[in-house]
Amino acid sequence: MSKIRVTVWNEFRHEKTKENVKALYPNGLHAVIKEFLEADCDDVEVTLAALDDEFQGLPDERLENTDVLIWWGHMAHKEVDDELVKKIQKRVFLGKMGFIALHSGHHSKPFKAIVGTNGNLSWGRNQREVIWNLMPAHPITAGIPDHFVLESEELYTEPFYIPQPDELVFGGWYEDGYIFRSGLCYYRGAGKVFYFQPGHESCKSFYNPYVRRVIENAVHWAKPNEIAYEILDKCPHLLTAVTDEFKSLDNVTQD
Ligand code: ZN
Repeated sequence: MSKIRVTVWNEFRHEKTKENVKALYPNGLHAVIKEFLEADCDDVEVTLAALDDEFQGLPDERLENTDVLIWWGHMAHKEVDDELVKKIQKRVFLGKMGFIALHSGHHSKPFKAIVGTNGNLSWGRNQREVIWNLMPAHPITAGIPDHFVLESEELYTEPFYIPQPDELVFGGWYEDGYIFRSGLCYYRGAGKVFYFQPGHESCKSFYNPYVRRVIENAVHWAKPNEIAYEILDKCPHLLTAVTDEFKSLDNVTQD
């Protein structure tokens, strides 16, 4: 069986400018994600991509050889090229690639374009978070107990201005009393999207075994469905629909 080709895209700026972040993720948080994915999953091969790489890390050839794109961005969402966003959206809609947005990826251009949202939410101080498993039978919660604790994560809170998720997989509770829909699945076109809240750059969440397991499970869940892929290859009109839908989303993307 061929391996799932995962590309982990990271803005990779905080790690170069903030000492506390550099100390946690010296080669970038994307490198840590690659390391645990490849260590734990025999059927996954991972490529790293970063905003400051040539073609913003995603030349056509790389994108066309990506089954699942994992995205972490925060301070430079605006710098991501709109043409690249359209290509990512199209590939997801055509069922050729799954998309996983981590943490502040809720405001990334691809997440907003694919899901159809401004992605807005409220946030606050880093604190203890309990992640509740709301769908124990879902493939993404395999191996995850009824809840697990992150000693320090950035507070993200409701209201989270997103369309109702197709599946609400995890719920977050914070020690200040706030709650957040912290793990969400969307089906868009023939593709799959997962959003997962943990992963603030100054927190250790990507070293947590349960966070790692969730991301590993999500990669397997989000990988393209081969049957849908074949069907969609025979439907060129979908390409037009995707482009039109992207245009109509311009007015909901946030400055
Ligand atoms: Zn953050």
